[in-house]
Amino acid sequence: MAKRVIVVGSGIIGASIAYHLAKSGAEVKVIEAGETGGLATRASWAWINASWGNPEPYFRLRLKSIEHWHKMQSEIPLLAITWCGGLIWDLPPAELDAYAAERAKWGQPLRKVGRGEIHVIEPTLTTVPDFGYFAPGEGMLEPLATARVLLDAAKALGTEVLAETPVKWLAEEHGRVIGVMTDVGVIHADETVVAAGAQSAQLLDSVGLTFRMTAPAGLLAHSKPARKLLNGLVMTPGLHIRQTAEGRIVAGTDFAGADPEGNAVALAIDLQAKVEAMVEGAEGLGLDFFTVGYRPTPADGFPAIGRPDERNGLYLVVTHSGVTLAPALGLFASHEILDGTRDPLLATFSPDRPTLT
Ligand SMILES: Cc1cc2nc3c(=O)[nH]c(=O)nc-3n(C[C@H](O)[C@H](O)[C@H](O)COP(=O)(O)OP(=O)(O)OC[C@H]3O[C@@H](n4cnc5c(N)ncnc54)[C@H](O)[C@@H]3O)c2cc1C
Repeated sequence: MAKRVIVVGSGIIGASIAYHLAKSGAEVKVIEAGETGGLATRASWAWINASWGNPEPYFRLRLKSIEHWHKMQSEIPLLAITWCGGLIWDLPPAELDAYAAERAKWGQPLRKVGRGEIHVIEPTLTTVPDFGYFAPGEGMLEPLATARVLLDAAKALGTEVLAETPVKWLAEEHGRVIGVMTDVGVIHADETVVAAGAQSAQLLDSVGLTFRMTAPAGLLAHSKPARKLLNGLVMTPGLHIRQTAEGRIVAGTDFAGADPEGNAVALAIDLQAKVEAMVEGAEGLGLDFFTVGYRPTPADGFPAIGRPDERNGLYLVVTHSGVTLAPALGLFASHEILDGTRDPLLATFSPDRPTLT
């Protein structure tokens, strides 16, 4: 008989988990407190990358996930991902070279690009350094639309999606999680997956588990739509920019978005001014709106995926960089939930490492 699995949360992580579970024959129900598509997900800068600052196991996981995005694109034709590559010089030159040397050692060389080539890749940039690096394997997508495409793909495989249905707590019987409590009572399942983003710790708390995580704020400024001005992702010191499918230039001070620290409007205006100074053709474009999202982040910054406290019937997936990691985490979660096999790439990402007590 098919395993009945509840996935709490319909952001890009829950959607990918639901898709992979349904594809492997599980009977899946996604339960979402609000509208479908997630909270952090809709506020994401949505850069698919294995960039600097990642220790090797995390780099390998990200790389695997990027590879799996390609496979998913061949399975789900409506998945729109632009594999534009990323142009990067948001580190001091010596650190940038060290980052490139590390990637070359790990078998993922970056291309060193001089001022002239930077202008060829992005002809509209007004201020460019002597050199930067180009990461050809990076991409971008529209996060809310993507989460919904994944949910639709899961639905086509029989998944039921219940929106506007908050889970009040996890239902437990004799030490086993047996489903979730909602306004309409307990919904039963053989397995319950918590993919509730920044709210995940609260749900774990309902069964006596403490999960240490944070949810730092990140602001992104969206310009009014423009003609095509950028070809891909550009990461400069203090300004990360990309152009969306509908022509808006989305800017943050780094990939995670700037922390507005109580002055969101001023920060958004400042970012837009930087965009207009940096991109020829963007002068006078104007800010359309800004978003502030909260990044679900385990206390040590790395993904947490697995059975917390080996609790029967319960599985947890919480991560930053979820736009990059959704394919691999969805695939690996489905394997572990359905046949008990844990991918070796998850070795250091158990929720039972010291962040969970
Ligand atoms: C500003 C910013 C920039 C970012 N930039 C990048 C980037 O460039 N690249 C990258 O890879 N990642 C980036 N991220 C991170 C990435 O967006 C997140 O890791 C990812 O969206 C997390 O997805 P999720 O599904 O876990 O969470 P969410 O999208 O938050 O989804 C969780 C869902 O669970 C639901 N939920 C919560 N509690 C309950 C409950 N009790 N009952 C039912 N439903 C519930 C919520 O309503 C929500 O819909 C960025 C994030 C932010 C905020």
